[in-house]
Amino acid sequence: MQSGTSRKRIVVLGGGFGGAYLARELTRRRLGFDAEVVVIDRNNFFIFYPLLIEAGCGSIEPRHCTVPIRDFSPKSELLMAEISGLDVENSCVHFQLVGDDELRSIQYDHLVVALGSVTRIPPESSVSGVREHAFFMKHMSDAVEIRDRAVELLELANTIDDIDERRRLLHFVIVGGNVTGIEVVGELEVFVREASAQYHNISDEDITFSIYELHNRLLGILPERLSVWATKQLANRGIRINTGVTVQHVHADYIVDSENNTVPCSTVIWTAGIAPNPVLKELDGLPLNKFGGLQCEGDYRAVGTENIWGLGDCAAVPGPDGKPMPPLAQIAIRQAPQLARNIAAVEAGRQTTPGEVHLQGVLVPLGRHRGVADLKAICIHGFFAWVMWRAIYLIKTPKLSRRIRVLADWLLNAFFRKDYSQLGMNEASNHGMRHCDPAATCEQHEKSDQSG
Ligand SMILES: Cc1cc2nc3c(=O)[nH]c(=O)nc-3n(C[C@H](O)[C@H](O)[C@H](O)COP(=O)(O)OP(=O)(O)OC[C@H]3O[C@@H](n4cnc5c(N)ncnc54)[C@H](O)[C@@H]3O)c2cc1C
Repeated sequence: MQSGTSRKRIVVLGGGFGGAYLARELTRRRLGFDAEVVVIDRNNFFIFYPLLIEAGCGSIEPRHCTVPIRDFSPKSELLMAEISGLDVENSCVHFQLVGDDELRSIQYDHLVVALGSVTRIPPESSVSGVREHAFFMKHMSDAVEIRDRAVELLELANTIDDIDERRRLLHFVIVGGNVTGIEVVGELEVFVREASAQYHNISDEDITFSIYELHNRLLGILPERLSVWATKQLANRGIRINTGVTVQHVHADYIVDSENNTVPCSTVIWTAGIAPNPVLKELDGLPLNKFGGLQCEGDYRAVGTENIWGLGDCAAVPGPDGKPMPPLAQIAIRQAPQLARNIAAVEAGRQTTPGEVHLQGVLVPLGRHRGVADLKAICIHGFFAWVMWRAIYLIKTPKLSRRIRVLADWLLNAFFRKDYSQLGMNEASNHGMRHCDPAATCEQHEKSDQSG
């Protein structure tokens, strides 16, 4: 695909929070320049992450926390493809359309890198077994898989008479006590305890949730008094809080912590940190920092380049204080219009301006209608903070129709019991159903006919 002569082409790699909001900004008329905007993403939707855990735990329908990119930014073009290479000299990106093996290329006048982040998995030498045995919370499939596993374990534990084994099966360990880890423990604990009411052989004491946090307090992003309040709330619910301790070995049946204690459990959810998308290392010619993130100037331009830009989790863009802006959706969303203005400024021969995005506040839901909120001027906790969390994210959810769907899910959940059926993400529930060898099936039928 060649770039047209008159109309400039802007290729956006990644259609998540940063990429999709940028594409929408770039195609709005008020920017005063006309460009062809092409988004490349392996999915035709992006995940509205703040609602992912609720979607996983059944508070809302999973599809309601996804946003179709074509619908969100209708004037941009979408290529549903896997990005596989970059040729900076010839200004082109290589990709493979999903479902097709052919390697294709597209030329750009401006390239924006918005490929997000991945869960940081520690090297085997420092923590072993994470890749093989732990669960993660990054994709829709992760959220649904964790919920399906919880249901599977309840079903299994209900049939087990050995009390120690039952308790091991129902021990969930969350590693990483910052925002994602706390949201996971807060929601999942409620889900598992409420679901357990349907199982006659499982008591409340059989279910345990533990958090491991390397630092000496949970929710280090919040002021200490909010973090202390949240910790007390979780501890009062029986959640075991281990601060200043981490996990050094993950096994299918237990973990070993950094104090050499072996703790029986069956599910470890790893939420300890993120890293820039590793695909950046495969895109030759990008200036990367020591963490593998795209090193940018204050105006979002990749260091040492003319027409390559970055935003969101994968880009290290210095904020007004000189430190990289934090990897959050609220930051990526507000970086997008600034970056769009800078690209327009370059096209009009004007000076670019440095980005200036501050953290507006941090809200964390704790489950059981409680939350904590640091809104700069005020810190609140309890029911009101939880209502505020829901209200703010409902307003931020793109599109009115989606907002109504989310609100309807919440209202229905207030009156009816959640649905505890699995969504079929675990291997066991699909066994023998997905693939069928007709020859083997005929042979089996013949045998049973002969024996019958
Ligand atoms: C569970 C969870 C809860 C969160 N809650 C909050 C919150 O409450 N508030 C908040 O501000 N932030 C929250 N965040 C952080 C927030 O989601 C990120 O900061 C935000 O998504 C960053 O936007 P991005 O565009 O950089 O990356 P993303 O939104 O992750 O988008 C990256 C896109 O790139 C695509 N992609 C990646 N690699 C390729 C490839 N090789 N080929 C093609 N496409 C590719 C992906 O499909 C994706 O669509 C949360 C994160 C998680 C995981």
